Amino acid sequence: SSPLDCEAPLTLPPETSLEKFRDFMRQIGIIVGPENATVISSDAELQHESYMDPSKAYDMYHITTKEDLVASAVVAPRNVPEVQAIVRLCNDFEIPLWPFSIGRNVGYGGAAPRVTGSVGLDMGRNMKKILEVNTEGAYAFVEPGVSFIDLHDYLVEHNLREKLWIDVPDLGGGSVIGNTVERGVGYTPYGDHWMMHCGMEVVLPDGSLWRSGMGGLPNPNADPNAPPHEQEPNETWGLFNYGFGPYNDGIFTQSSLGIVVKMGIWLMVNPGGYQSYLITFPKDDDLHAALEIIRPLRVGMVLQNVPTMRHILLDAAVMVRSSRLPFGVDRQADLAYLQGDRKSYTDSNKPLTNEELDAIAAKLNLGRWNFYGAVYGPKPVRDVMLQVIKGAFLQVPGAKYYEPEDMPDNLVLQTRHNTLQGIPSTTELNWVDWLPNGAHLFFSPIAKVSGNDGVAQYQITRARCEEAGFDFIGTFVVGMREMHHIVCIVFDRKDPSSRKRAHWLIRTLIDDAAQRGWGEYRTHLSVMDQIAATYSFNDHAQMRLNEKIKEALDPKGIISPGKNGIWPKRYRKEDWAI
Ligand code: ADP
Repeated sequence: SSPLDCEAPLTLPPETSLEKFRDFMRQIGIIVGPENATVISSDAELQHESYMDPSKAYDMYHITTKEDLVASAVVAPRNVPEVQAIVRLCNDFEIPLWPFSIGRNVGYGGAAPRVTGSVGLDMGRNMKKILEVNTEGAYAFVEPGVSFIDLHDYLVEHNLREKLWIDVPDLGGGSVIGNTVERGVGYTPYGDHWMMHCGMEVVLPDGSLWRSGMGGLPNPNADPNAPPHEQEPNETWGLFNYGFGPYNDGIFTQSSLGIVVKMGIWLMVNPGGYQSYLITFPKDDDLHAALEIIRPLRVGMVLQNVPTMRHILLDAAVMVRSSRLPFGVDRQADLAYLQGDRKSYTDSNKPLTNEELDAIAAKLNLGRWNFYGAVYGPKPVRDVMLQVIKGAFLQVPGAKYYEPEDMPDNLVLQTRHNTLQGIPSTTELNWVDWLPNGAHLFFSPIAKVSGNDGVAQYQITRARCEEAGFDFIGTFVVGMREMHHIVCIVFDRKDPSSRKRAHWLIRTLIDDAAQRGWGEYRTHLSVMDQIAATYSFNDHAQMRLNEKIKEALDPKGIISPGKNGIWPKRYRKEDWAI
């Protein structure tokens, strides 16, 4: 239809008449061209189910109804001035915008907005250039639509992987910018993506353009008559984060204060050698001893990367017959024991018992806990590191050490072998198919790297999962001095009871955790308010500061209202409870 009389959206933006919305969309069409503006007008647009073709308008893994979190329209700017024009238009019309890069934020809400009827700003569709790969400085600058797979492919195609590696999350299809601003992690020594970002260009809520850190100092060779977003940046922008004065980059993470249009990310220099490994621990109770071994090794940097301690069911759920076998796996190899979904392991509807878990571990030749790590550097360096690592972990009775060559048909180990050297894949998607119509939510509390804390988090979260009728599926992701404990709540998205139990479970876990001093690092749209409220020290001092900054930078509350529990003055948060 012509943008002059665009269809009515399923949900209008708050306090916006259809007439006003049409007027707004007319002007949007003039800015981005009609082909880059889509009104979400019917259920036909809410049929996406696959990570490979994700929705840009709603949460494919919704736990309430899908209409609860849906955009009125999706708009894809082609360049920075168009982003600025859209932001200004939204201020004029007081219509909220929800920026995202690719919308593969699976388990946390995808591309869906927190306020239904917001206009989704699809930053990734047209703005997806790799702006620079600087081999000397070992960094890259990218636009929002550049995925980890894109950046990796670029290095391979330009014969640069001999020099530089990227760091990738479990799934490589998301964007470098989206994942980094959400403070997502990967598994090489550069696993903390936010720590490794350097240089941001942001469109602020008033439509103006800002560069962080050294980007504030003009490059003497830049053309002062060029528009700001095209001016050659300072040569140290991608090298030094802090610049001069207050360091503001952090307010643009998990944030509703700006739209990131360019970002620098440090790349890892090819270390000149690499060895991945798996250490299996046979007993559930071994978790305690293993975590006590991990702490000094990780903080002392003998464990050079972000290793993971995975529960047996996470591995079992990935071991599926699949066309998505990673590079390097021999498709003709004997994959007979590869299983996959829950049905292939049990007929019972009850959460798997310890005996059943032991049987699955035995069948897969894995432990109840499985530790995936890697060493980096030339052989003499690796040998010394591995000697220390084996010497420490193999003191646990029954622990076993394997390298990928030892287990050619262990799909998880073969995949981790790639992931831990920054080669992206989508194999880990498999575990979502544990249940029919599988969807997932992440519950992700931070834990001390300690046997007592890890075991307590495991016991409490497992008991609640089972109370809700789900199996515990989880992994401890070991950062420098803490662990991101990722509990994967897999539910059947077409079964209302399953969705309801998943919702109950995460709400209950948030409160259980807060009572023990455990807080989450990131969350799904539907529980952002609840988690924000748990960070309540000194009468919610964090929220009061966040609200003041929001009011100062975005007085009309245009960008991502409700994101991470921060509501502009215009909104009554109670009205938007989920
Ligand atoms: P991915 O790129 O991994 O698919 P998304 O595009 O789903 O991730 O983005 C996840 C979240 O990160 C969004 O909901 C939004 O809050 C934030 N985000 C992503 N890209 C941008 C951006 N360019 N500017 C500001 N925030 C962003």
